Amino acid sequence: MDLDNKWAYLRAAGNPDWQTRPGYLPIVIDRIVEMLGELNLPLTVFTVGRDLVEDEDCVAIKSFDRMPRWEPANHSLNHLPWMHTMESSEIADEIEVTDARIREVTGRRPLGFRGPGFSCPDEVLSVLSRNDYVYDASIFPTSIAPIARAVFLMKTDLQGAEKERAKKLYGGFDSLRHPNHPFERNIAGHSLWEMPVTVMPFTRTPIHFSYFTFLASFSTLAAKSYFRTALWLCKVTGTAPSLLLHPPDFMGREDDSDLAYFPGMKMQRRDKLAIVRWALELYSTQFDVRCMIDALRTFDPAVDPDAAQLGHSRATGNNIATSTGQLAQSPSFQ
Ligand SMILES: [Zn+2]
Repeated sequence: MDLDNKWAYLRAAGNPDWQTRPGYLPIVIDRIVEMLGELNLPLTVFTVGRDLVEDEDCVAIKSFDRMPRWEPANHSLNHLPWMHTMESSEIADEIEVTDARIREVTGRRPLGFRGPGFSCPDEVLSVLSRNDYVYDASIFPTSIAPIARAVFLMKTDLQGAEKERAKKLYGGFDSLRHPNHPFERNIAGHSLWEMPVTVMPFTRTPIHFSYFTFLASFSTLAAKSYFRTALWLCKVTGTAPSLLLHPPDFMGREDDSDLAYFPGMKMQRRDKLAIVRWALELYSTQFDVRCMIDALRTFDPAVDPDAAQLGHSRATGNNIATSTGQLAQSPSFQ
């Protein structure tokens, strides 16, 4: 889950109200924890550093501890989707300040990062390597990136320099060059895994939940059939689906009229929660769903999920890693 807050959506839409930093984390996290807890599903949460300041947000984020298993990960400090235009020092701040806040609030160290707007310049990868991150998850290898960007630019009220910078969003056709499965990079001698957001095999269309609930707002039947097909194609092509959730997937139109422009936000809360639960249940019956770091270990047994525990020694972790060999047939993650 990318734990994007309301202010980040308002800013992306060019709405000046974002500056008062309106948010919904306490309400929505409660719903997420409840539903995923009932389904016994784990969750990786990409958290924005700006939301690790106010007490009520920190308490809400800490309440993910009520889940059977969750993993805190880094989603930048300010959620600016144009990291590719930033200076090196700014990029380092975006990642390292959030890293420190996550440690302070959750008592754990993030091992993964996802750039806002699926932006993944080389400098980001260097900072992640320098900080001993295990994976980046900023690649979205979709065929519709140029369309998604065009729709964004058409709908947003962003002006001037910000609009210019937004013109590189989603990576354009470049994003199609990337594989639809995890792969390993070598950054100055450091191994850094890339965990792309999975798209539909062959068509490369999105299968994350905002897209799915957007389809469902037109036809539940069509959306369910699309999602079933996506999971089936993942199975037959041996693709472990990394499915992306956002907080509005747990909200309906009666929750927030300011977000009405967001895909799927025309649905009533009851209908939205029902369709999301249906999809999560199907996902959990067809795949062995894991946090990103746990799933990554099926690709690379040297990966040590316990490295997230502060004060953990690497040597101990390696022993744990080599002594556990029970890998599931169909690992998956979100
Ligand atoms: Zn985000």
